[in-house]
Amino acid sequence: MGDLSAARSASTLDAAGLIVCPGFIDAHSHSDTYLLLEPSAASKLYQGVTTEICGNCGASAAPLNGGYRMPSDWIDKPYPTSWKTVADYRERFAEARPAINAALLVGHNTLHAGICGYDPRAATPPEMAAMEKELEQALDEGAIGLSSGLAYPPGSAVPREEIIDLCKVVSRKGGLYTTHMRSESDGLLEAIDEAVDIARKAGIRLQISHLKASGPANWHKLDAALERIRAARRDVEIGSDRYPYTAACTDLDIVLPEWATYGGRDAILARLRDPGSRRRIRDELLESPAGRWDRVMVGSTQYTEFRGQRIPAVAEALGMDAVDAVLHLIDTDNLKTGGIFFGMSEENMWKVLAEPYVSIGSDGSLRAPTGLLGQDHPHPRAYGSHTRFLRAALDGKTVPLAEAIRKMTGLPAEQFRLERRGLLREGFAADVTVLDPAALKETTTYAQPHQLAEGVRQVIVNGVHTLGDGCQTGQRAGRFLARQSS
Ligand SMILES: [Zn+2]
Repeated sequence: MGDLSAARSASTLDAAGLIVCPGFIDAHSHSDTYLLLEPSAASKLYQGVTTEICGNCGASAAPLNGGYRMPSDWIDKPYPTSWKTVADYRERFAEARPAINAALLVGHNTLHAGICGYDPRAATPPEMAAMEKELEQALDEGAIGLSSGLAYPPGSAVPREEIIDLCKVVSRKGGLYTTHMRSESDGLLEAIDEAVDIARKAGIRLQISHLKASGPANWHKLDAALERIRAARRDVEIGSDRYPYTAACTDLDIVLPEWATYGGRDAILARLRDPGSRRRIRDELLESPAGRWDRVMVGSTQYTEFRGQRIPAVAEALGMDAVDAVLHLIDTDNLKTGGIFFGMSEENMWKVLAEPYVSIGSDGSLRAPTGLLGQDHPHPRAYGSHTRFLRAALDGKTVPLAEAIRKMTGLPAEQFRLERRGLLREGFAADVTVLDPAALKETTTYAQPHQLAEGVRQVIVNGVHTLGDGCQTGQRAGRFLARQSS
């Protein structure tokens, strides 16, 4: 962006009556490998998103080492080429020419499992040294920080000191630490204390991912959680992100008791298929609060008839108890069943979204209604997060419009140190979104998620006209946004 008064224009876009704003930055995405498979990035681009922060929740596309297995929705897709390091991934990214930009965090589970495997244990000193070396290389190759997924194995069994030591490496390079905390439910407050403690001891910027109080029994903790974060922000740089929906989404096997989740995929499936341990899992699930199955919807599964159905309906169709239906799906889908969990309070959601340090992050991977990434059953947040939030702002249901746009542009650009992004300012990259406030709406639903948002008229990415009059132009000019050396 700059003074183009002397330039000759190839085309002119009429934005009368429309909102012209910086391209949206999705502060929390999992599109790492999907950008290589579906470079149109349709579900994001049609919302006006021009940049995604990838590699969240402890899982990233790189660096790939040893025994690490990518998340279930990434792993069995047909990738035209392979990669290992962040540098390799950047090459694949450049070859794929995605329509939008992306920055990459290094996933702690990716790093840890690649070097130490999936057993619940701390790294040995030589393994720790190897992880630090890998991490340093990934940062030098352009990664912007470290993400943890402490609710998932193997990170859930790793001592805090390991994260602190790794964060010190990131801090020296000027990167940040993002975390899917150890608990977002019963242990929410303790998990916030842990995240802040890690940030303080490592001297690093902290981003608390998808801030929420999960489960009705924990809804009342949200005010205390926000108070803790506000207090800690006096001496630690803390940001957060959130999607504007009250259902979470992850693999359905997240409901398994912790002891049953270690050792990697084969070990977990072996436990599910051993009658003794299956009985033990079943008994524990019957006692645990995860047994509120009416709040759980099946997402992606090989059984198309069950997609978008609540567990009790699936159980009835299968002629099983709910708990057995859940174990049946997880087992026969080979741990690839998606689960959509309705466990959040709407009042709390708006409260979180209004906090001045909370960016909008979809927590969803990009999709497209047709093609390889239009076959599964994702959470609608992949298609609607930014549109839904902006619609709410336009309708007066949340923060004022300018603040809503800041939460999708300037704020995440600052949090992730995306240089010359997030503002319409001379010298900044020309990432621009033009939308019609009257027509803006999400059309995606939990039942029919694969539907593009409406109302975004033009999207310019790195100065290239990528969406024109509400349709993709065919041009794709996204870039890998490497960490700026400090
Ligand atoms: Zn997460």
